[in-house]
Amino acid sequence: MSDEKPINEPIDIPGWWIEDLHYGYRQMLKIDRLHYDSKTDSQRIMVFENETFGRVLTLDNILQTTEKDEFMYHEMMAHVPILAHGAVHSVLIIGGGDGGMLKQVVKHRAIGRIVQVEIDPEVIEFSKKYLPMLSDGAFDDPRFELVISDGAKYAKEAEDSFDVIIVDSTDPVGPGKALFTEEFYTDLSRLLADGGVIVTQNGIPFTQADEVINTMAAFRKLFVDYTCYTSTVPGYAGGQMCYGWGTNDPKLREVPLEVLQRRYEAEKLDTRYYTPEVHIASFALPKYIRDLIPERESLTRPAV
Ligand code: SAM
Repeated sequence: MSDEKPINEPIDIPGWWIEDLHYGYRQMLKIDRLHYDSKTDSQRIMVFENETFGRVLTLDNILQTTEKDEFMYHEMMAHVPILAHGAVHSVLIIGGGDGGMLKQVVKHRAIGRIVQVEIDPEVIEFSKKYLPMLSDGAFDDPRFELVISDGAKYAKEAEDSFDVIIVDSTDPVGPGKALFTEEFYTDLSRLLADGGVIVTQNGIPFTQADEVINTMAAFRKLFVDYTCYTSTVPGYAGGQMCYGWGTNDPKLREVPLEVLQRRYEAEKLDTRYYTPEVHIASFALPKYIRDLIPERESLTRPAV
């Protein structure tokens, strides 16, 4: 949300957590039990228990992930690009300190290298302690390499190459702001291997249309094929969640159902949201979302 927009009058209701992400529209969750509330160098971290969502993680008072609905987000951000690609050897995760994304990525046995760049080591440490079900031991996977750094700095300086890049960021406020700029996406595109794909957390288009508009405007300049796909995640209030998709291989979006099914079964993935059918359906966009994506007349690689 841009700094010029009006903000809600602060309110305090004892025993309730209140998210003020949008003007005139609040989300409230009852705090059944507070597990953790502290400020790091980068942000305020909270973990509490809620009957509907289980353990809830918030950063700077914005909901990040919850025990009960995290699979709807992490499975779709990890398995869609990895199974569409079909021969992924290396994955870069930017953000994702709770470990939920990593848990899905390590399920793919053919992947040899997984690098995660997280700005705040405390998110990882306290997630291991208070939300162990999210990473489920994935931080101990021998293929995992942790880099503690600003993802934007890493993208500018790294010389690596990855088949899949997943930007599991906070909203574009505070440290997360740098992960929504054209400069960052340009730097990331340099790290993408031939035939690779990048996916990004792009918020709820009903309330955060700017995230889709800005990311897609940047992707249009950087990639031959760019679009969004969606899933619904109840904790991210306001409707469907959008994930940005950018690649120079348009065929990744046209992988037939039978091929996705074969790849899915070969990996013996135990998913609760992702299925090959949902994978294909997730690219069918409601018109109000499709209208946020700028068109390009022909699919020829743009000059970068
Ligand atoms: N799924 C969540 C959502 O949609 O809001 C995001 C979850 S994950 C906890 C986001 C992570 O991004 C956090 O651990 C945060 O510390 C990290 N992060 C924020 N800004 C960052 C930056 N500039 N570089 C690297 N990591 C960053």
